[in-house]
Amino acid sequence: MMIDWEKIDTVLLDMDGTLLDLNFDNHFWNEFVPQKYAEQHCMSVENAKIHLIPQFKSIEGKLEWYCLDYWSEALNLNISELKAEISGLIVVLPHVTDFLEKLQQSSRKVILVTNAHRDSLDLKMEKTCLQSFFDGIICSHDFGFPKESQQFWHHFLQHRYFNKENTLLVDDSVAVLNSARVFGIKHLISVSKPDSQQPMRTILNYPAIEDFRELMVGL
Ligand SMILES: [Mg+2]
Repeated sequence: MMIDWEKIDTVLLDMDGTLLDLNFDNHFWNEFVPQKYAEQHCMSVENAKIHLIPQFKSIEGKLEWYCLDYWSEALNLNISELKAEISGLIVVLPHVTDFLEKLQQSSRKVILVTNAHRDSLDLKMEKTCLQSFFDGIICSHDFGFPKESQQFWHHFLQHRYFNKENTLLVDDSVAVLNSARVFGIKHLISVSKPDSQQPMRTILNYPAIEDFRELMVGL
């Protein structure tokens, strides 16, 4: 059993790469945006990638990275509109819905905790209809700090109290799990297959699930 469910009263769930297939975001940033950027600047997609990928890398993990307004301005592209254009790729990862249904039947608090921009979040909730499974949705933009920073967790705890000892966080980002560990959240689980189109990842410092069936044991 991966988790002693008796000890858990609050479950914090990341969205992209945890509940939803990261293929959408990876495809969007690595293929679709360079393609649109290339069209706009009359350059090859290859050149657009050479130009854009270092820009993306340079602010990875910062709040701007997740901010659609920032990228719309920086790239002069309507990022929200472009996301909506390929929204058919937004899908829930296998066994997530079963897991959420089972959680809902238990008395545990279930909170979606995401670095995603509100526009992105709204589009994804509209496409997946997962909203009703959550007792709350926390968008790190509302606090002005990403989950990777300690300030985020301090603001979150002030906004909505939870007991760190009895809380489980599932997140595909090791940087976020590290931050949550420093803050003192006791139960941390990673995801080894956040993108259905990529091979499984090896996660070193945290137990990782391939899909949510592994977490449903004992729930
Ligand atoms: Mg994620």
